[in-house]
Parts: sequence; structure tokens; C-alpha cells
Amino acid sequence: NRQLRLTSRPVGDIKESDFEYREEPIPSPQEGEILVRTIYLSLDPTNRIWMSDMEQYMPPVEIGEVMRGAIIGVVEESKNQNFKQGDLVSGLLGWQDYAIAEGNSGFSLMRLPAPLPCPLTTFVGPLGFTGCTAYFGLLDIGQPKVGETVVVSAAAGAVGSIVGQIAKIKGCRVVGITGSDEKCRWLVEELGFDAAINYKTVDLESAIAQACPDGIDVYFDNVGGSILDAVLTKINLHARIPLCGLISAYNATEPVPGPYNYSHLLMKRVRVQGFIILDYIPRWSEAISDLGQWLNQGKIKYALEVVEGLGNAPKAILKLFNGNKKGKLVVKVSEE
Ligand code: NDP
Repeated sequence: NRQLRLTSRPVGDIKESDFEYREEPIPSPQEGEILVRTIYLSLDPTNRIWMSDMEQYMPPVEIGEVMRGAIIGVVEESKNQNFKQGDLVSGLLGWQDYAIAEGNSGFSLMRLPAPLPCPLTTFVGPLGFTGCTAYFGLLDIGQPKVGETVVVSAAAGAVGSIVGQIAKIKGCRVVGITGSDEKCRWLVEELGFDAAINYKTVDLESAIAQACPDGIDVYFDNVGGSILDAVLTKINLHARIPLCGLISAYNATEPVPGPYNYSHLLMKRVRVQGFIILDYIPRWSEAISDLGQWLNQGKIKYALEVVEGLGNAPKAILKLFNGNKKGKLVVKVSEE
């Protein structure tokens, strides 16, 4: 059983040496437990949070522990009456070939539908954690209305690309902010965004003003930092800001100052609400039903970057921070 364990808490960028590669015997499930073989391992910005000991929404990964990760896998052996050999499951397990899961419901393990209605990889992307994050963050917290302007940062990523497409379905003007011209083209030409801004090459405040002539009603924040500050200069009265992530700060080695344009929140009576997708698990089926339908109808498209081999995970995760990928980043650990 190949495993990647956390050996040190990263300072700044993640380094491959923050992980240790080990091989251990494949574990055997006890009564009530299940042995799961990992097929796909999802790489997520939150991995960086779990590697740190900052204040967070669940316990950090301890030094020496197998790195935590969201996976799609198959049940190889079951001593739990709710699961049988061959069931496809998703869950929060680890960076390893095989894991023991407890099999109680909740986010530790969920059974995927059988037969599968779509490719298995869809369940790490639009029908997985990231798709549901986009869905509940935008619709439940952002509450977009027809004709409003929705701006999303990290727009070409796993969450952002779905946020923008849901906002289009809801009749909004959609503007994406991302880090390359190629990604901007993809957002506009393939995914149907109204405009996209490369924050690395333009004056962001004026580009936002130009792309959002009626101001911004919903800002889906994946990034924080200077992009949030620029957005606040164009925020509308009674705007909503679903605070999904702050990736610009995850590698920070010094405390990060809050937005300089904080006063706009007061003057414009803006509602900012942080959320963590795990809180929405009881409502998962609502999101899956709508997202599944939109996928079938071709209203939602997605990109997936698949890296081969568990051993490449420590290098591949850097792509989340240098932006060198489009859509959802996933490692293929074993054959489907
Ligand atoms: P992405 O697929 O969007 O990958 C991260 C992207 O962020 C990169 O591709 C890069 O794209 C952009 N980025 C990285 N560093 C910076 C920076 N310093 N400034 C601006 N952009 C940057 O990841 P996800 O879609 O999985 O996650 C997006 C956000 O949502 C993250 O902040 C994550 O933590 C959060 N999240 C929150 C959840 C919740 O429950 N609240 C659940 C899931 C995700 P680019 O080329 O555009 O720079």
C-alpha cells in the first residue's frame, strides 16, 4: 500500500519534501469497516490549509499522518452491511492506494449511483465537492437574480468555472477573473462567460469597471487579496459576497491585511458570508440533481486535468498555486 505522509508543515509554497513516500501492507477491514481502493485523488487548495496548523474548519493533518484527500474509489472488501464489494464510493480518505473507511454515512463515505450515469471523473468535478461548492455558494448565499452582474475569481478553476455557468443559466451577466489569456478565451468562447479579465496583465480596477458597466451584484470570492479589493470599488448596493476561499493567502508567511476598501461594505450595505461545503452535505442531492441535468443538457461544461500516478501528487499540487492548469485537478491512482 503506497502512501504519502506529511513530514513537515510548508513554509510558503508546498515542497515535495513536505511529503514522505512509504509502502505498508494493505490493511484488513474490521467489523463495520470497508477496504477502499483509490482510483482518483482530488487535489484541492484546501490541502494546503490542512497541511498548516492555522485556525481551520477541521483538524489539521498531523505530522507523520497520511495526507488527507478527497477520493473516488471502489470497495474491495466490505464488513459493513451498507456497502458491498465493487461499489463505487467517494469520500475524504487519503493520499494512498488503499484506505479503511468506517462506512457510516456522512462525508466520510458516499456511494455513487449504479449504474453510473456519466463518466466516473465527473464525480470529482462538477458532481463532486467542487460542483456542489459552486452550486450552494452561488445560489444559497449569492442569490443571483436575472439581469444582475456576477463576478467570480479563480474563474477557470474547478469551482469558478461552474459558478460562472450556473450564473449564466440563472440569467446573469457573468465576468470571470483569471490568470492567463488562454483561460480567458476558454471562459468566453467555450463556457459562455460575457467577459473575462486576465488579472496578471491589466489594471484590474479599470478592467472591472469596463466589464461591469452596471456594477457588481454578486462577487463569488475564491481568492481574497488585491482582487477582492479591486472588486469592492465596483460593488453595488445590497450586493452579496459568498466567501468561498482565500487562495491568494494560503502560502503567506506573514499575516495578510484585510481589504483596504473595506468601507465599501458599509456604504453599500453588502452581505459577506463565509461558507464551508461540508455543512451542505445533507442537501447534496439537490445540487447533484440540478447539476446532473445541466450537464446532460450541455448547459455546463467542465475541464479536467488528470495527472498519472500517486507519486506525482506532491509535484502536481503546485499547479493549484501557479495556475498552470484549467478546471479540476485530479490524480489517477489506479485503473477504473
Ligand atoms: P482551482 O481549480 O480554482 O485552482 C486554484 C486556482 O486559483 C489556480 O488555478 C489559479 O488560477 C488561482 N490562484 C492561485 N493563486 C492565486 C493568487 N495568488 N491570486 C489569484 N488567483 C490565484 O481551485 P478550486 O476551484 O478547487 O478552489 C477555488 C477556491 O475555492 C479556493 O480558494 C478553495 O480553497 C475554495 N474552496 C472552498 C470550499 C468551501 O467549502 N468553502 C470548497 C472548495 C474550494 P489563475 O490562473 O486564475 O490564477
